[in-house]
Amino acid sequence: MITMIDLEHLRRAVALAAEAVEAGDEPFGSVLVGADGRVLAEDRNRIHTTGDGTRHPEFTLARWSAENLSPEDRAKATVYTSGEHCPMCAAAHGWVGLGRIVYASSSEQLGQWLAEMELPEASVRRIAIEEIVTGIPVDGPAPELAEAVRALHYRRRGMA
Ligand SMILES: [Zn+2]
Repeated sequence: MITMIDLEHLRRAVALAAEAVEAGDEPFGSVLVGADGRVLAEDRNRIHTTGDGTRHPEFTLARWSAENLSPEDRAKATVYTSGEHCPMCAAAHGWVGLGRIVYASSSEQLGQWLAEMELPEASVRRIAIEEIVTGIPVDGPAPELAEAVRALHYRRRGMA
C-alpha cells in the first residue's frame, strides 16, 4: 500500500526526474529514506551527461548505501523511484541488501509510453522487480503520478 508519506517521497523522485530532463538526461529520479523517515540520499539519471549508461539513480543509491550504511540500516531503508527499477538496478538493490521499493510508474507503463511514441525497444529488457529479487516488499505504481511521469518522457523526446 502506498501511504501519503510514500507519495511525498515519490513526488520528490519525480521532481528529480524533471531535473534530469532539464539537464539532458533521461526522466528518472530516486530517493533513499531511512527507517526513521529521514532522506539519506537522492540522485537522478545521468546517462547522457556522463556517457555512462549505468548511471541510473537506483544503482547510485545502492552503491551509496553499501558505502555508508550498515547491513541492518540498509535492510530497513526504502528506495522511492519515479520509474520501476530496471534489471540492473533491481539486482544491485538485492545484492546490497536494501529494503522496500516504492515506484511511481511501472516498467510496463514505460513500455506503453515508448510504444505510443513509436520509439524502439531498449537493448535491456524490462522485467518486473519481483522477477529479479526475492523477499523485498515492492509497491507501485502510484496512479496519482502516472500522468506526471508520462509527461516527462514525452518532454524528453520533444513531444508535448
Ligand atoms: Zn536501472
